[in-house]
Amino acid sequence: MKKFKTESQKILDMMINSIYTHKEIFIREILSNASDAIDKLYYKSLTDGISGLAREDFAIEIKADKEARTLTVTDNGIGMTAEEMDSNLGVIAKSGSQDFKKNNEQKEDINIIGQFGVGFYSAFMVSDKVEVISKAYGSDEANKWTSNGSAGYEIAPAEREGHGTTIIMHIRPDAEEEKYGKYLEEYEIRELVKKYSDYIRYPIKMETTHYKTEGEGDDAKETEYKEAETLNSMVPLWKKNKSEIKPEEYNSFYKDTFYDMEDPIAVIHTSVEGAVSYKALLFIPSHPQYNYYTKNFEKGLKLYTDGVLITDCCKDLLPDHFSFVKGLVDSELTLNVSRETIQQNYRLKKIASNIEKKIKDKLVDLLINDREKYEKFYKGFATQLKYGIYDNWGAHKDTLKDLVLFHSIKEDKLVTLQEYSDKMGEGQKYVYYATGATIESIKALPQCEKVLDSGFDILCLTDDIDEFALRVLGTFNEKEFRSVASSDLGLDEAEAAIENKELTDFMKEKLGNKVAEVKISSRLKTHPVCFSTKGEVSMEMEKVLNKLPDAPAEGVKAQKVLEINGNHPIYDKLQKAFDEDKEKAAKLTEVLFNQALLIEGMAIESPTRLAELVCELI
Ligand code: ADP
Ligand code: MG
Repeated sequence: MKKFKTESQKILDMMINSIYTHKEIFIREILSNASDAIDKLYYKSLTDGISGLAREDFAIEIKADKEARTLTVTDNGIGMTAEEMDSNLGVIAKSGSQDFKKNNEQKEDINIIGQFGVGFYSAFMVSDKVEVISKAYGSDEANKWTSNGSAGYEIAPAEREGHGTTIIMHIRPDAEEEKYGKYLEEYEIRELVKKYSDYIRYPIKMETTHYKTEGEGDDAKETEYKEAETLNSMVPLWKKNKSEIKPEEYNSFYKDTFYDMEDPIAVIHTSVEGAVSYKALLFIPSHPQYNYYTKNFEKGLKLYTDGVLITDCCKDLLPDHFSFVKGLVDSELTLNVSRETIQQNYRLKKIASNIEKKIKDKLVDLLINDREKYEKFYKGFATQLKYGIYDNWGAHKDTLKDLVLFHSIKEDKLVTLQEYSDKMGEGQKYVYYATGATIESIKALPQCEKVLDSGFDILCLTDDIDEFALRVLGTFNEKEFRSVASSDLGLDEAEAAIENKELTDFMKEKLGNKVAEVKISSRLKTHPVCFSTKGEVSMEMEKVLNKLPDAPAEGVKAQKVLEINGNHPIYDKLQKAFDEDKEKAAKLTEVLFNQALLIEGMAIESPTRLAELVCELI
């Protein structure tokens, strides 16, 4: 007997102990594997030019035997060799296995089933023994894989007529938690196929009970007979008429296909006829999937050609900035392109650019007509959109600039750049922003005071990427973005700032190259000190850039200007010390510099030294 691989063993134990309430999904998993196996053979027949395999001949068959308590699913797909059985059925669903390894320590069991297709193993939720008899296409040997669950599995030679696979599930005895026998009932099976597998493109057949009346009048007698029936409509959801599809159908298709527990925030269903004809069914998720912001995440759409799945994840159909979109494209691409060369297909590029536009339009539509929904979406994907602006030197900034929101201090809510622009005051030269860890900390920044007092609004930038994105945008409606910490705020300086060259030169000398300049501020009202910056690098950028793994050893430095409030009592103290006690003035300078650092949320060089200084001065 062979043992299952460790991570598979864990999944299997979960299946056997069946903590999952939706056990019925096993039927979807088994049927979709059958359909995949047929797709693979059908695809091969087209690309390799194999004759004698007609699409009409492919079918999936379900058979329920109440006496033997077995549910059997048979397909005439590509089948598996003994080696393939060993490697494919010995591990958990490949799609999720790598992620599972990394996540199985933290994740709730339930989430695992919700987030990956656990696939084949789900059969063990309802069976105490599973047999798989398979013959690979082109081989004349069949094999049987048998497992009673977690102990392991065996593979032995077997008999099977044609190519394909037969899965025999030995249904568990009825138990208190679930009457497993229901999975052998015709009615139940029919319902489940309709619910989960209706769109499978090959007929799912089952012998079902029918009645007919024989004889006439008093002699009429109802007799029962069995007849094969196709349970699924075989029309994929995306090929149906939009008007015939209920929102719940879209939602459950999305949740079942892309393993999300929440409904999507929006659905895009389009059909394009022309030089490039295709249908697309796209979903915008309401939240990022668990690995979205990791390098394991792969963007892409499923690609079908005339209903046959070509690839599960065609990257080229989605731009990076919309990588969160899930869905599929079904197009009449020529089929002699291989899975590898399909990327170069120029028609894909055309489809991709149409799709990008559709997604953008949908997001704008949500933003305008359902702000609440948009903001829920934005909460999860803001970073991606802003990164998209920054990425590629702003190549996509025009697509994305209307989609980003920032918190406005005056409005106290998220606003678009357009909304900010619409409310700009007369004589306002710039779009002002301030950076910080939280909205609260930004509101408290001394640098904000002057701008707000002039009646101008400020956008709060709390995400690392924010300032970089705005820098790439450069302007909005021809107004430049300007940090409130910038040395030039473009405000009317009614009262010229006081100058006190003796004092500021003294302070600059004491601080050395820690600052580029010391000056008496014209922007401060109630606070004693703050920083502003000259040049390209802002304080926030200094913080972010130095966190990056490839930051230069000497660090990136913003050119800081220490501004002192000439109307603050501390200024008079400083002046007094400067006149009478230079040593004290030097200490005060150092304390004020550190205070400005603290306000910015930057690290101070030596907290111990600062504490000593403060004590001495007290
Ligand atoms: P997934 O479908 O995500 O790959 P599954 O656990 O559902 O994962 O199936 C594991 C693998 O077993 C499949 O990828 C396939 O190679 C193989 N397999 C399962 N069922 C069949 C079948 N009916 N015919 C051929 N191969 C199958
Ligand atoms: Mg599967």
